[in-house]
Amino acid sequence: MKKVLLLTSLAFLLVWCPAVAQQGRVEYAIVIHGGAGNILKESMPAPIEKMYRDSLEKALRIGDSILRNGGSSLDAVEACIRMLEDCPLFNAGKGAVFNAEGKNELDASIMNGNNHMAGSVAGITTVRHPISAARAVMEKSPHVMLTGKGAEQFAADQSLELVDPSWFFTQQRWDDYLKVRAHADSIAAAGEHGTVGCVALDKYGNLAAGTSTGGMLMKKYGRVGDSPIIGAGTYADNESCAVSATGHGEYFIRNVVAYDISALMKYKGMTLQEAASFVINRKLKEQGGMGGVICLDRNGNLAMPFNTAGMFRGWLKSEGGNLEQGVEMFR
Ligand code: ASP
Repeated sequence: MKKVLLLTSLAFLLVWCPAVAQQGRVEYAIVIHGGAGNILKESMPAPIEKMYRDSLEKALRIGDSILRNGGSSLDAVEACIRMLEDCPLFNAGKGAVFNAEGKNELDASIMNGNNHMAGSVAGITTVRHPISAARAVMEKSPHVMLTGKGAEQFAADQSLELVDPSWFFTQQRWDDYLKVRAHADSIAAAGEHGTVGCVALDKYGNLAAGTSTGGMLMKKYGRVGDSPIIGAGTYADNESCAVSATGHGEYFIRNVVAYDISALMKYKGMTLQEAASFVINRKLKEQGGMGGVICLDRNGNLAMPFNTAGMFRGWLKSEGGNLEQGVEMFR
């Protein structure tokens, strides 16, 4: 009798335990942002809100199909950002803001949390997808960062798509530029947003992060922000988290924001939520550094703190076979 009971309990445990474990397990996850700033429900017409929502959802669907089919987090990050770079709503690729000279200068970076490899480009004007140029630097060169003409030459050597600088022009951004130029020439006064970023966790437990931007409206010719700086705007480490930032880049560089969040988890044992919130809502806020981050850890926990009025953001998580997703922009 005892033997029967024991066997029954064993059989029960064998069937039940994997089912329970499966329930709480995140198979893959992806988080995206489209910039933080003065994004308010009351000043956004409903059709514009819908356009943003649709674009963010489209990017999430692209990431989902890659990750669901066993693609890597790096592939998902690159593909999502490529789509957002082509979307004129965001300040990256087509739709980038103009610098003080009335030109578009683009920055991007990507990092693989599995092996700490990273690549970035800054100040480029002729590469349609800066994020792919950043990935090429990571995978096909011995370097981490290439800038300006050298980065463009490298992208051409890698057969990446090149465009005339006018490809990045949008009337909306040009009007913003003319307005700001007429009233003030400070980047702080401009408060532009729309940088894009993505962090992902794939089925193999690997994290990746990427960020792409036109920088800040009215920035000086040659200015480089945080987005292409590994550790400031982008960071990924399988042992802690993946981070992509958006906001006033000078503050993010000085505070090494993305790495700081990772280090607080790794060396101080903070949770993702605690580390991200501490850096954005305490450290940065006290200094007047405005912006936000999207973060993901290897267990699929996510954090998206921002200290601005709003941040375009979306997430998708496959947990125990269920898909959970959302898109938000306001507080
Ligand atoms: N962080 C970007 C930069 O400073 C701008 C942004 O995220 O809106 O270049």
